[in-house]
Amino acid sequence: MTDNPAVRRLADWRAETLRDLADEFGTPLYVTDLERVRENAARLRGAFPDADVAYAVKANTTRAVLETLESTGVDAECAAAGEVKRALDAGFPASRIRYTAVNPPARDLDYVCSLEHANEMTVTVGAEDTLDRVAARGFDGPLCVRVNPGVGAGHHEKVSTGAEPKFGVPYDRAERVARDAADRGFDPVGIHAHAGSGISGEGLSAHRELVRRMGDLARELADLDLEFVAVGGGFGVPYRETEPPLDLDAVATATRDALGDLGARLAIEPGRYFVADAGVLLTTVNTVKETPGTTVVGIDAGMTTLLRPAMYDAYHAVRSLEPDQPPRDAVSCEISGPVCETADVLGRGRTLPDPTRGDLLAVGNAGAYGYEMSSQYNSRPRPAVVALDGGEARLAVGRETLADLTRLETGDRDADGSDGTGRGDSDRGCQVGEAAGTDMTDDTGSADGREEPW
Ligand code: PLP
Repeated sequence: MTDNPAVRRLADWRAETLRDLADEFGTPLYVTDLERVRENAARLRGAFPDADVAYAVKANTTRAVLETLESTGVDAECAAAGEVKRALDAGFPASRIRYTAVNPPARDLDYVCSLEHANEMTVTVGAEDTLDRVAARGFDGPLCVRVNPGVGAGHHEKVSTGAEPKFGVPYDRAERVARDAADRGFDPVGIHAHAGSGISGEGLSAHRELVRRMGDLARELADLDLEFVAVGGGFGVPYRETEPPLDLDAVATATRDALGDLGARLAIEPGRYFVADAGVLLTTVNTVKETPGTTVVGIDAGMTTLLRPAMYDAYHAVRSLEPDQPPRDAVSCEISGPVCETADVLGRGRTLPDPTRGDLLAVGNAGAYGYEMSSQYNSRPRPAVVALDGGEARLAVGRETLADLTRLETGDRDADGSDGTGRGDSDRGCQVGEAAGTDMTDDTGSADGREEPW
């Protein structure tokens, strides 16, 4: 293994480090290794040395991740006003931000177009009338046209966007829209398309076809002197432990070949590839229940913590972080969350060392679309996030409290906020008597006698 292997497996994470973090910060807890984020950025830039490389920030907008990627020199691809704000706050200058507006709400456009350096940002429009809308707000900066390439791919039908009518200007109208934009005084700098998310294996041929079509379109628009042709993100990562990683160099070569000769630069915008294997989710076993069909292992992280299994039937590897001595028998089990929904199952038919209440588990590849898609459904506060960097760990996002659930409700009489420590309650790691710590090791109530466990 080199210092920068193509994939970091769940087994590669040091159990002792993760156990210490769970003890200090409680569970459920996301852990992001910023050094791994840098490694992934370096590998992408190495494979695509002549391309504009942007990070699709929707995969993980944690400030720590954005600052880390800003410092590597990649650009930011943003899909919403909030993402633009967070990229700016993390230090990306407007000139390194592309705002790709999908059916943008007026409020988003108001914000983006009124920014001090709005005209240094590239705005990508996916519908003809978005031109009118940004023009009405005074935007006359660099403009990119999102094209619907008519081919899609991805790890699940819900993320295969390329052929969905919602996204982009239909391919056969894209040339006219780009020319209209130029005639209206915009500065058309690029064209853009995205096949979908989590592409590998057979999906790569759809990606190649998309790139070929975009190359053809760019040649038709040669007189506009486009600066770049963006072919989206979507580079898949191996969620299953035995799945091989993407051969990034081969993808880069195939992409360049499919694009053909162009005056414009190639641009890519992966999200997942930068951050997926840089993150794990730590969770504690709450309940172990024998049923006729399986052993149900109830954990303190659910679909509100990590939505991907419920939303996309996504597979995430799970590993016990308990010491392997004394050895335990392997048990086949279903690993379920605490949300009252049938969909709230992290995995079925998984094998764990004889699960016991209080065991600490790690869930792999949780760095992309993990914390980012978490929610407060079932009135569950969101977990904390810890950033690891060169052996140092720091709280990157504090744990929400019950008070956070109602903070914005009018008439809330108890919205006095969290203690900001990020410490949560769990069956392990909470020290009785500390500011936010409430020992939950006894299910009959809080050990320090306080009613409120948050
Ligand atoms: N670009 C666009 C336009 C997207 O919609 C997405 C994801 O949905 C991405 C890039 C990033 O995809 P991924 O995280 O799979 O690389």
